[in-house]
Amino acid sequence: MWNLRTCNIVFGILLGVLIALNFHGQVPIAAYIGLAIAYTLPLAWGSYRVDSQFYIPVICAGPSDRPQIALTFDDGPDYSYTPQILDILDRHQVSAAFFCIGYRISESPELAMDVHRRGHLIGNHSFSHHLWFDLFSSRRMLGDLQQMDQVLAKAIGVKPRLFRPPYGVTNPNLKRAIIKGGYTPIGWNIRSLDTVIGDADVLRKKVEAKLKPGAILLLHDTSPSTTGMLDTLITHIKASGYQIVRLDKMLNLPPYA
Ligand SMILES: [Zn+2]
Repeated sequence: MWNLRTCNIVFGILLGVLIALNFHGQVPIAAYIGLAIAYTLPLAWGSYRVDSQFYIPVICAGPSDRPQIALTFDDGPDYSYTPQILDILDRHQVSAAFFCIGYRISESPELAMDVHRRGHLIGNHSFSHHLWFDLFSSRRMLGDLQQMDQVLAKAIGVKPRLFRPPYGVTNPNLKRAIIKGGYTPIGWNIRSLDTVIGDADVLRKKVEAKLKPGAILLLHDTSPSTTGMLDTLITHIKASGYQIVRLDKMLNLPPYA
């Protein structure tokens, strides 16, 4: 598998070849610069793709031999949309996972309690969801995740185990923070892009075309288009023969630490 270790081995060998060639004749400096630039490409790809498994194994799918789908909602809780989404889920009697942001829980702990009380899972999506979170030191990342743990423990009395990286970005610092904190990183294998697709019907059709057994669907309970299409989407998922199951149950993982 193409991961950080194999990448370092391959580029180490290529660097060794360049140095060896240099003994037999001048290797242009551009060759070294080209190699350095080429080295950054897989690193950037590995950071950007949560399913790359480049820096750390991230669970991005459930078992594909069962017609099950897990709904996940990131970035809440949100007063405008989370209650509407909870009502839709209640109507269909399905449970979902909410990867919440800590500072939002501290602003609306009763909303987090409502999510929990209505049978949904709450996971860690960092406290700050800071724009530069991916540039934090490992220590600062861990502090941020633990701050979210504390806020959630205060709000509903549980400590999250499942963690979804902000922006889906992974890197060596995050790997260290995840290991030290004992979190299980969770990604997705269907990205709805509901933060950029404003038309609910367009969004729903896009998601419906990607449905598959073991799907972990990334949505946001901050998105008006998701709120607008969720009822119809769930009806379609069920009519297509899928069962919507809570993420921890689909993955057979303990929900909380
Ligand atoms: Zn997010």
